[in-house]
Amino acid sequence: MNYPEAKEKKSTSKIVHELDSLFKPKSIAIIGASSKELSIGNVILKNLVHFGYTGKIYPINPKEPEVRGIKAYPTIFDVPDNIDLAHVIIPSKFVPQIIEDCGKKGIKSVIINSAGFSEMGEEGKALQKAFLAKAKEYGVRIFGPNCQGIINCDPEYNAYCDFTFTFPKPGSISIVALSGGVGAFIMQSLFDLEIGMRMYASNGNACDISISDVVNYYGEDEGTKAIILYTEGFHNPKEFLEVAKVVAKKKPILAMKAGRTEAGAQAAASHTGSLAGVDIATELIFEKAGILAFNNEEEMCQVAMAFSTQPIPKGNRVGIITNTGGPAVIATDELVSAGLVLPPLSDKAKNILKTTLLPEATIGNPIDVVATGGGTHFRSALDVLMNEETIDSIYINFVTAPFTDTDEVARQIVEVNKMKKKPIVCNFMTNLSMERYQVTTKIMKEGGVPCYAFPTTAAKALGALYKYHKVRSRNIGEAKVFKEVDKEKAKKIIQSGSSPSGRSGWVFLSSDKVYTLLSAYGIPVADWRLVDDVEKTVKAATEIGFPVVIKADAESLVHKSDLGGVAVNIKNADEVRAVVENMKRKFGPSSGSSPSGRSGGVADLKFFVQKFLPGGKELVAGVSAQRGLEPLVMFGLGGIYVEVLKDVVFKIAPVTELEAKEMLSSIKASKLLDGVRGEKGIHKESVIEIIQRLSQLVIDFPEIQEMDLNPIMAFVDKAFVVDARIKVQ
Ligand code: ADP
Ligand code: MG
Repeated sequence: MNYPEAKEKKSTSKIVHELDSLFKPKSIAIIGASSKELSIGNVILKNLVHFGYTGKIYPINPKEPEVRGIKAYPTIFDVPDNIDLAHVIIPSKFVPQIIEDCGKKGIKSVIINSAGFSEMGEEGKALQKAFLAKAKEYGVRIFGPNCQGIINCDPEYNAYCDFTFTFPKPGSISIVALSGGVGAFIMQSLFDLEIGMRMYASNGNACDISISDVVNYYGEDEGTKAIILYTEGFHNPKEFLEVAKVVAKKKPILAMKAGRTEAGAQAAASHTGSLAGVDIATELIFEKAGILAFNNEEEMCQVAMAFSTQPIPKGNRVGIITNTGGPAVIATDELVSAGLVLPPLSDKAKNILKTTLLPEATIGNPIDVVATGGGTHFRSALDVLMNEETIDSIYINFVTAPFTDTDEVARQIVEVNKMKKKPIVCNFMTNLSMERYQVTTKIMKEGGVPCYAFPTTAAKALGALYKYHKVRSRNIGEAKVFKEVDKEKAKKIIQSGSSPSGRSGWVFLSSDKVYTLLSAYGIPVADWRLVDDVEKTVKAATEIGFPVVIKADAESLVHKSDLGGVAVNIKNADEVRAVVENMKRKFGPSSGSSPSGRSGGVADLKFFVQKFLPGGKELVAGVSAQRGLEPLVMFGLGGIYVEVLKDVVFKIAPVTELEAKEMLSSIKASKLLDGVRGEKGIHKESVIEIIQRLSQLVIDFPEIQEMDLNPIMAFVDKAFVVDARIKVQ
């Protein structure tokens, strides 16, 4: 689906303008500022002052003339100045009134630190609704409630509008985290790694300003080089996807989504009242948007260090410099599994190194300058790799050997690093309790070289830089729109899907409708007829041409073959008659039993006659609607294998041709599709087209809740759907 460009642009610039009052406030009121040590109203004021906030601070407190030595005002109306941003730290029941007051005072953004809203049941929800109505009326943007706040480390502002305890140095990484706890430890980890921070936002219940708004803002912020994101789900996944797609092309977004397991999801759902449920779609959103996803928060922070200092490589070719053997081996394994390659050195490079390195050095890729190698040797190796056209990035193993001038080695690495020609990561192995090595470490860190204690971590960081190169250069294209589809016909079928049994909500389409619908969208199906007695079945089979398949057909018959409702390879009229009589006995009204266990059998029993198509590979494709997002499209190995092997992959619709191809190549059994050991492969183009047509169908008709094409019979030259179920709203 296409989102109108113009509309998106307009809203983008509007949001950015509005959020300036939040992230770049020139004056801040603290409603609920308190002289009481260890209270939030005290800590926030203290933090602002401590961090050197450059704007004006107005504590609001009806009882105190001053708070922490700063003149206080009884109400915001007493403040003789404009206020950009207000903190609200008062009991929840007073918040709706205060938001109205803020509106009247012309305050543009409010951080509601107070809890007691949607996370607290019905009463809290009502309060949240009430203050939101006021905010809307007066055009006030709300951050929170039940949140920490924001930090802007830009020295022009030094705005620490938060009650946490880490005071970062200015840098280029911006953080947005739904959970304040996670946000705080990410901030602390970056601090421990000596990575500067640009902006921080933790928006708790996120009732108004969303994660998407903040990501969008960071995307526009020139000082933000990379974004770290933590969430437990999205209020509006579709909006997030659209925003993140645009931002991720401009700068890397590193993200973590917790709640991957059932129990984790439950913990997330119960710890904040902000979410519309946790879903499996988040990782697909990350993938589609080009977000670098992490399962490990420590790794995410480590990788951020490389993004904050290094350029993005132009390709996957890495050169390794080491002064010790083993770590380079570990690194090579990790680099290669991240998709990097180690090209051989050119003759020119080798000839230079033969004259510059020690005689015992290994000249190749990796270049082993050996433990006795000093600054000049490292430098020569670095220069050679920087000049090699076949090298895109450099990985260094640097162990601080006691018999070398390690400071000089560090200085040489730093000098080359400062050129920012190609990315460098360093596995720096040393003893930090020794003063001598503390100096070396300082040179490396201050010189902006990302240093990692373990080779695997360093390699992972370089792998992530390369992954972002792929994100930026990846173009999934636009989803194809097949023009010759019969949308009107499809619409009629879907609208006619009202349930005969009068069930409200949703209904399964009958088989004739299912197959007509698929055909209307150009999805090939095996020739079929739906009939209701023996002789009509014989006639249908004759028309289709033997051999045929006969399937007992009724709304209640779900897994037909399990119940003996599928008879394959029926070769003549006599066999047809025998099968039909048998199915009637088994399922018909007088059978005395039905698949659901109720007596009386199936009242609406019909016979679905279909061309028998033996010898194909059974594949599955499907669709499931998602709340707040386009449907998910599934593809995998079909037939009985679906449940056993669960070898399926998902994408968010609309699925482009490239994505459909990726689906085929990313299942575990993808090699089977190419054919193995004399067995023939399948006609992939047909299946790729089926996936795209399926995607178009569900984008055109959001009424489709679920769709299951299982199996699709795929042959060397074509593919057909032979069984399908469609659930519509
Ligand atoms: P169900 O999924 O309800 O059990 P299916 O229609 O998928 O019923 O049939 C079950 C199996 O029978 C399929 O997985 C496939 O192996 C086989 N089958 C069904 N229809 C055909 C057909 N037209 N040609 C060849 N094999 C078929
Ligand atoms: Mg089936």
